[in-house]
Amino acid sequence: MARILLIEDNDRNRYLTTYILEHSGHVVVQARDGREGIELAAAAPPDLILLDIQLPDLDGFGVAEVLRRNRELAATPIVAVTSHAMVGDRERILGAGCNGYIEKPIDPDTFADEVAAYLRRPPARGAGALG
Ligand code: MN
Repeated sequence: MARILLIEDNDRNRYLTTYILEHSGHVVVQARDGREGIELAAAAPPDLILLDIQLPDLDGFGVAEVLRRNRELAATPIVAVTSHAMVGDRERILGAGCNGYIEKPIDPDTFADEVAAYLRRPPARGAGALG
């Protein structure tokens, strides 16, 4: 069981993702845009952050960069959820501070396992040095 912050502006995606994760025993905190997500993450650091890349105003890349400036979140996995898994985006996602990404549309049969894999991983390389 983990406390997961979900930053997703699409109602349908937010509902489905939350449903799957809660069904797997996780607690989901929802944010509808990047600013709200940044505030919620700072107020109570979650165990993992799921981050939509296409967000209004501040996009997921920008949100990840802001989250990574918060030392308390240095070891928190940030997983992008994006349909933009094109050539070059992997580098851009990782460069913004995400630990990896899960492609949309999400597969309800495997999504919880994909997320769990990030919960089991050791902190990102260099994260410890920041603390
Ligand atoms: Mn979106």
